[in-house]
Amino acid sequence: MIKENNFNFKGVWAKYSDYEIIKSNDEFYVRATKKSKITTFDIYNVNKKLLVDFLLIGRETLKYTNERDIECNLMSTEEKYQKMVLDFVKKYGLLGDLSYPLLNSNIISSGEVYLQGYSEVNKISANNYIKPFFIEDENIKNIDFNNGINENILKYVYSTDLPIELSNKPEEMNLIFSKAYTEKISRILFYSKQLYKIFEYTENSITEKNEDKKAIYKKFASEFVPNNIAFMFDLNDDKVALNWQFSSLKQAMEVLLGFNESNDRKELKMCKHCGKPFIAKNLKAEYDTISCRNIANVYKNREKNK
Ligand SMILES: [Zn+2]
Repeated sequence: MIKENNFNFKGVWAKYSDYEIIKSNDEFYVRATKKSKITTFDIYNVNKKLLVDFLLIGRETLKYTNERDIECNLMSTEEKYQKMVLDFVKKYGLLGDLSYPLLNSNIISSGEVYLQGYSEVNKISANNYIKPFFIEDENIKNIDFNNGINENILKYVYSTDLPIELSNKPEEMNLIFSKAYTEKISRILFYSKQLYKIFEYTENSITEKNEDKKAIYKKFASEFVPNNIAFMFDLNDDKVALNWQFSSLKQAMEVLLGFNESNDRKELKMCKHCGKPFIAKNLKAEYDTISCRNIANVYKNREKNK
């Protein structure tokens, strides 16, 4: 294990004990099962493993789709990719896509949602924004989200057993951690691909020898800006910890990746031969497996003997 120079971090996220795939209008979604139970975990305890697992999905997705994003919809109909997403969600929960792009918080109380457009801020109604995250749920389909909190929201959306660690978080957490909350598989695949690309560009911008290529990788990598980061001090146990109030697992992964890439002693690396993300056992490690290292050496020797 590499000894990194770390901060003391805390950041809580929640997941249910089981999830299932549901189909609606020929699209596939992930949702917690009826009998599942909610638990919380500290994101910092899993951070490298979380990134490796998600970036592996991204790498597979990128292989399949190249640059055409429409293909994520096709992939989401295939069992192989559904299973990859389901396995990930069972380990770490859903991504929190609902709260990720929000410019305002407490969207239920206000009944309005503000999102950053290309150059302007767009306002949409809470009903239009929230309902696509609650697929195949008759009760929620008929709820009015546009006029503040009401009885039906408390009854059908809010969970009675939301862990205490989440109770002081913004209102949106009640939506994201509702048992009825769904995320679309094609969107998870699409996002995993985006994050893998950032990882690949950043890694390549460090290792690439060709200066022209290096400049291109650097340009792409520098366009990466993690969304809305909020840190607070946590002063328990005579120790200062950064308590990170992240709004979605998407945001958390972006920031964790940012810390990894900017660390001189990083643990998470990309295999120089196959491009798979892996947790390195020592600083000099360049390949995820012995076979990748051997193949790479064979190529190197051939180059030399030319
Ligand atoms: Zn490899």
